[in-house]
Amino acid sequence: MTNEKISALTAKYPLVADLMALKETTWLNPRNTSLAEGLPYVGLTQADVDDAHARLARFAPYLARAFPETAENNGIIESEVVEIPAMQKRLEKEFGAAINGNLLLKKDSHLPISGSIKARGGIYEVLTHAEKLAINAGLLSHTDNYSVLLEPRFRDFFSQYSIAVGSTGNLGMSIGIMSARVGFKVTVHMSADAREWKKAKLRRHGVKVVEYEQDYGVAVEQGRKAAEGDPNCFFIDDENSRTLFLGYAVAGERLKAQFAEQGRVVDEQHPLFVYLPCGVGGGPGGVAFGLKLAFGDNVHCFFAEPTHSPCMLLGVYTGLHDSIAVQDLGIDNLTAADGLAVGRASGFVGRAMERLLDGFYTLSDQSMYNLLGWLAEEEGIRLEPSALAGMAGPVRVPTPSLTPTHLVWATGGGMVPPDEMEKYLAKGR
Ligand SMILES: *Cc1c(COP(=O)(O)O)cnc(C)c1O
Repeated sequence: MTNEKISALTAKYPLVADLMALKETTWLNPRNTSLAEGLPYVGLTQADVDDAHARLARFAPYLARAFPETAENNGIIESEVVEIPAMQKRLEKEFGAAINGNLLLKKDSHLPISGSIKARGGIYEVLTHAEKLAINAGLLSHTDNYSVLLEPRFRDFFSQYSIAVGSTGNLGMSIGIMSARVGFKVTVHMSADAREWKKAKLRRHGVKVVEYEQDYGVAVEQGRKAAEGDPNCFFIDDENSRTLFLGYAVAGERLKAQFAEQGRVVDEQHPLFVYLPCGVGGGPGGVAFGLKLAFGDNVHCFFAEPTHSPCMLLGVYTGLHDSIAVQDLGIDNLTAADGLAVGRASGFVGRAMERLLDGFYTLSDQSMYNLLGWLAEEEGIRLEPSALAGMAGPVRVPTPSLTPTHLVWATGGGMVPPDEMEKYLAKGR
């Protein structure tokens, strides 16, 4: 972008200057509206989410056997929600501010198979594709027990097909591990910031890993190109996929059921504030969509991004969506928060969700490291840096003096090797 264009943009949108200065920035969204008014813009409905629930239920018997760690929950991949009162006190002390209401953590960091929120969308999309191929070939019907998919004849069938995806790490882990288990040939195109241990783990599962020296956008483009020439290759498009989005959206109703079980009330007097780390947007966007459908106007969703990768805030705030990248403004997109190192947001998610999100904020890598250390000290819960982005929410976002519930969505870290975790912990203050 030319200097003139940047000046014109900052004149019209003053917060852009703060983003360029890498300041921790909060933006409350003036276009935020009711579910009834915002829903038509999403282009997806409750029926689509119901369909995703039903599909995951069909696959549950298969998953329970293909991944024995899911058997305990009958093949349903879901995470716990826990109270973190000691962390709440620590945040109050560190920031010198009271946090009214309860502070909860949604532990997608500990989801089976891939240890991140990507175990929702990524796995769902692979399963959706596998089901479609098997049904079209006359090998499977909706009423079958899907554990037949473990039989060698299915693995032989799926081995004719391949899957490709571009990733900063965690999406590749979910899609790679799931695809390889189903029997697909799978290639993960990894950006430069992807961790070595994630690549090594994928290779151990028989996944082909192609490494790039550039960022996520380039890895996705290369993956897309590699898939184009091959009609049997399916490219999973993290930037635009409605299927991924629906895989995430299922979380809304599941959380509602967990709250009901724990006796937690969400209503006008007890609003729910949810803080979601955002990379390209599919994960937090899909989850927020599901939460809106489940809790209506009593849930308020905020996206959190690194100061070096504020792509969704930038896109929604300026209305430029995916036609602007943080690099256009000289912001480098370099962050320790792997899953969040995205320079250009999903245009689909920004446009779909801009009326249903209450706000956005950015935080520095050092803030994430500090939060990481405090959570480990206070609660003994260890997450990867990205997963702490939401933890600043309760002190960054004004909440009403009612009795809110604050829910921090912990998006990853359950599978970080101990020596890597020590390095993260050493960086906290
Ligand atoms: C991918 C990821 C996110 C964000 O999801 P997007 O769909 O990219 O917005 C957040 N946290 C972690 C740990 C991730 O891997």
